[in-house]
Amino acid sequence: MEKYSGLSLVKHSFSHHERWERQWANPTPNKKYDIIIIGGGGHGLATAYYLAKNHGITNIAVLEKGYLGGGNTARNTTIVRSNYLWDESAALYEHGMKLWEGLSQELNYNVMFSQRGVYHTCHTLQDMRNNERLVHANRLQGIDNEMIDAAQLQKEIPTLDCSKDARYPILGASVQRRAGNARHDAVAWGYARAASALGVHLIQNCEVVDMIIDGSNTIRGVKTRQYGELMADRVGCVVAGNSGEMARMAGFQLPVESHPLQALVSEPIKPFLDTVVMSNHVHGYMSQSDKGDLVIGAGIDSWVGYGQRGSYPIVEHTIQAIVEMFPTVSRVRMNRQWGGIVDTTPDACPIIGSTPVKNLFFNCGWGTGGFKATPGSGHVFAETLAHGKPAPLAEPFSLERFVTGALVDEHGAAGVAH
Ligand SMILES: Cc1cc2nc3c(=O)[nH]c(=O)nc-3n(C[C@H](O)[C@H](O)[C@H](O)COP(=O)(O)OP(=O)(O)OC[C@H]3O[C@@H](n4cnc5c(N)ncnc54)[C@H](O)[C@@H]3O)c2cc1C
Repeated sequence: MEKYSGLSLVKHSFSHHERWERQWANPTPNKKYDIIIIGGGGHGLATAYYLAKNHGITNIAVLEKGYLGGGNTARNTTIVRSNYLWDESAALYEHGMKLWEGLSQELNYNVMFSQRGVYHTCHTLQDMRNNERLVHANRLQGIDNEMIDAAQLQKEIPTLDCSKDARYPILGASVQRRAGNARHDAVAWGYARAASALGVHLIQNCEVVDMIIDGSNTIRGVKTRQYGELMADRVGCVVAGNSGEMARMAGFQLPVESHPLQALVSEPIKPFLDTVVMSNHVHGYMSQSDKGDLVIGAGIDSWVGYGQRGSYPIVEHTIQAIVEMFPTVSRVRMNRQWGGIVDTTPDACPIIGSTPVKNLFFNCGWGTGGFKATPGSGHVFAETLAHGKPAPLAEPFSLERFVTGALVDEHGAAGVAH
């Protein structure tokens, strides 16, 4: 690494052309990798980067069935926060938050991390109690979070309808001021470029269709649609909504369900909202991108499925909530709607760690909230893969918790979906 104008630059030991070749190269036949990572989303690419940078392992292949960062990473609404209720989750997400705070410098790539604050509005007494409980828990964990009343909220966000005439009047809100958002695909590109510069092989258009597992139930490699068999000592699977399918290939079941999750953006408008507002009660949230689009989302579709597209009833419901919160946007036109597939666990917490197959590790189950975890997830999964055992921050999120009952159960606890 060398220092330049306060930014750390990754020193590229390859020429631009060589790097391009490496990055997009096809795998060499019969090549054996130390580690194969399945899934070239933000989490997989962050894992590869930290494996190379922190653990000196560079004989790694990231296999991506489409293009890098084209899955949920490219489809999400980019809320980053760390105010979770339980100590285990708060520690993991706060680890991610601290990495976010230095990520543009670390990768020498502007991930446009913007700590513009995230507000959770409360519309009932119970909402207020839940958020107060969350704020107290966060303070004990050393994580910033505070309660404000409706008058203060109105002052801070003048366009939000805090009047008593609203269908569900707002009583107050919690706000994490260090929270905010980032540019979704820049995170994937930043990690990809930095990992590639350290020698990691990024192989796009390479779909894993089966796992190669020997008689002693140890993974030896994977079968791919495009390049046949690729071998490795360890395999890390980070495929978000496709995790159940991957587990099926490896011969076990995961306690996850895949659901569509939708979002939409408006036409670009003048600066109007400089923060992120979420309401779990009326079920919608909104921020404004630097381009001016209003970025809008809600909770998951209640049905299971793999459809990466939007659907009208959800959009209608979400827009109703947004117009109720911000009546002034009622005539703004919507530009695009889309969906991703997220894998949800019964306790709404991720699964990170070993599996019934030796040397096969999974990182999945992030549901609606894994974007914020991208750096933290990659960091702990790299440690897990490098040592062949769960990193301390990942331990509470092992698959065994569904057998022992030691669930972290963040579902509903933090009161919000993202
Ligand atoms: C609409 C929407 C809004 C969201 N909003 C937020 C938010 O505001 N804040 C937040 O924190 N989180 C949010 N999320 C969740 C977040 O996007 C995900 O948790 C996170 O991006 C998961 O990252 P990933 O790298 O694991 O997954 P992905 O980016 O989906 O990467 C997985 C990759 O695996 C690849 N893959 C799958 N199967 C195979 C195979 N067989 N072989 C090879 N490759 C394969 C896929 O093509 C994909 O590129 C949202 C998600 C959606 C869909």
